[in-house]
Amino acid sequence: MAVSIKADILRAIRESTDYVSGQELCDRYGVSRTAVWKVIKQLQAEGYDIEAVNNRGYMLLSYPDTLSGSELMSRMKTKWAGTKVYFRKETESTNEDAKYLAEEGMDHGSLVVADAQTAGKGRRGRGWESPAGEGIFMSLILRPDFSPNRASMLTLLMAVSVAEVLSNLYQDLKVNIKWPNDVLINEKKVCGILTEMSAEPDFIHHVVTGVGINVNQSSFPEGIADIATSIKLELGERVDRAQIIVGVMEFFEYYFDIFRQRLDVSDFVHIYDSYLINRGREVRVLDPKGEYEGKAEGINDKGELIVRLPDGSVSCVASGEVSVRGIYGYV
Ligand code: ATP
Repeated sequence: MAVSIKADILRAIRESTDYVSGQELCDRYGVSRTAVWKVIKQLQAEGYDIEAVNNRGYMLLSYPDTLSGSELMSRMKTKWAGTKVYFRKETESTNEDAKYLAEEGMDHGSLVVADAQTAGKGRRGRGWESPAGEGIFMSLILRPDFSPNRASMLTLLMAVSVAEVLSNLYQDLKVNIKWPNDVLINEKKVCGILTEMSAEPDFIHHVVTGVGINVNQSSFPEGIADIATSIKLELGERVDRAQIIVGVMEFFEYYFDIFRQRLDVSDFVHIYDSYLINRGREVRVLDPKGEYEGKAEGINDKGELIVRLPDGSVSCVASGEVSVRGIYGYV
C-alpha cells in the first residue's frame, strides 16, 4: 500500500477534532471504501487507537510511540524538507542510504529515517551508537544550487535547527552547541551531525546531512558514557521522537531558505553564538598540522571558529579536519 495514502489518511484523522467519515476520505484521496478500511485496520494493528463508529466515521484517540514513514509524513508541516520519508526499521547507516537514494535521483528534501543503525557514522570514520527504539537517526538529501565550498555551513544550520527545537520543546534544559557539529544538553553530547557531499569542483551533485540524536536512552556504553547523554536522562521522562524530527525539519527548511539568499551564515552568527558552549572559553584546537590553544570568541560569516591566540592574534578555524576540545576535557 502506498505510504502516502496511509500518511494522508492518518493526517486527516489526526488533524480533525471530530469523526471523519469513510466517504469523505474516499472523496478526498480518490480511493475506494475498501482501501480506506484497509488503511485503518493496518494503523490499528500498528498500535493506533482509532475508534470506528457507524454512520460517523473514524476518530484517532491515541497513537503509539513508534516511528514509521506514515507517522512522520502525516505530521510534517514543511513545504519540502522531510515531506518524503524513507523509513527503515534497521539499516547500516542512514547517510549511506541517503547517498544511494540521491544517486538514484531522489528529490531535494527527501529524508531517510531509521529506528536503528548497525554501523552509524561520525566524522572521520568514527562510529555513532545507534540502538533500536531510542534515538533519532536521520539523513536529509539536499540538492543545493550553490558552490561546494558553502556546503560545510549546512552542518552549522542543522546544529542551530536541532538546538532551537530542543530548547523550545524542553525549556528547562540547558542546550548548547559545541562547534561545529555537536549539540549538548547540560554540557554532554546529545546530537552529532555529519554532512557528506558528492560534487565536482564547482557543482554539487548532492549533499547528505545526517543527524543522530540521543532521545530515550537510559545509559551509554563505556567509552562515551562520560561525554554522552540523552533527552530522557536529562529530562527524567521518555519523549516523542517524531515531534523532534518534525520540528527539526521545520527549522531547517526555514533556515536553509534564508541561507540561500546570502550563501553565508551572517544571518545566523548571533543565534549560533548564543548557543556556542566554547564562546569565551579556552579551547585546544586539534589541528593535524599542530595543536594550539586560545580563547574561542564565536563564529564568523563563513562559520569558522574565531580563536584569540595568547599573542593577541586571531586564528579562524575551518571545520574540515579539525576538532576542538576544552582545555580540561570534552568542552
Ligand atoms: P570532534 O569534535 O573530534 O569532531 P565529534 O564529537 O564531533 O568529535 P563526531 O564525529 O560528531 O565526533 O561523533 C563521533 C564520536 O562521538 C565517537 O567517536 C564517539 O566518541 C562519540 N559517540 C558515538 N556515539 C555517540 C552517541 N550516541 N552519543 C554521543 N556521542 C557518541
